[in-house]
Amino acid sequence: MTGFVIPAPVQPALAVAGSSNRFPVRRIFCVGRNYAEHAREMGHDPDRDPPFFFAKPADALVSSGATLAYPAMTADLHHEAELVAAIGAGGADIDTAKALAHVWGYAAGNDLTRRDLQAEAKALRRPWDMAKGFDNSAVVGALRPATKGHILSGAIRCLVDGALRQNADLSDMIWTVPDIIVHLSRFISLQPGDLIFTGTPAGVGPIKRGQTCVVEIDGLDPAVVTIA
Ligand code: MN
Repeated sequence: MTGFVIPAPVQPALAVAGSSNRFPVRRIFCVGRNYAEHAREMGHDPDRDPPFFFAKPADALVSSGATLAYPAMTADLHHEAELVAAIGAGGADIDTAKALAHVWGYAAGNDLTRRDLQAEAKALRRPWDMAKGFDNSAVVGALRPATKGHILSGAIRCLVDGALRQNADLSDMIWTVPDIIVHLSRFISLQPGDLIFTGTPAGVGPIKRGQTCVVEIDGLDPAVVTIA
């Protein structure tokens, strides 16, 4: 009899809207600067920068409705409202025309960010991992299967204690979901279970202790998180 020398990790998984079944999460990829106004607010020219990617560990996943402690090592926790695409069929060098067939479903997400650590990493030309990939940094709502339709346009909003912080349309993305899949699948082989956070519109800002942050996308369940 052989086995693991320590208990195997729990499989991170997402709720599926209207189902008791869950979507197992393998990896979490994120797109940087995918809305022109957000690129500008972060001090970049949106026309010149091609898409780039970073990642969070799969076990950074948090289901909507969670109450989290204020993260360690930061004094500037930020929200980033994002559409999340869940990959159901893997592939490398995926063609644009076939890209959407790789998407199993969509969810609202919040790419929680330790903005002060990110600014320091940028200044020192260091990796973003500790600014982006910390514990409980990927808040995601219930997945809506793509069989009910692809989510390519519609309002995306972020509210903190009811105050509107981010308000844009998914059609404002510089790189569409198919574009993102094409680009990302050139760098890595996408696998079933991968999530892709597709970037955030303008209006990112702090979530303070005691506040509740809601990401709303038309047609999807919200991604809600409260910071204790
Ligand atoms: Mn983001």
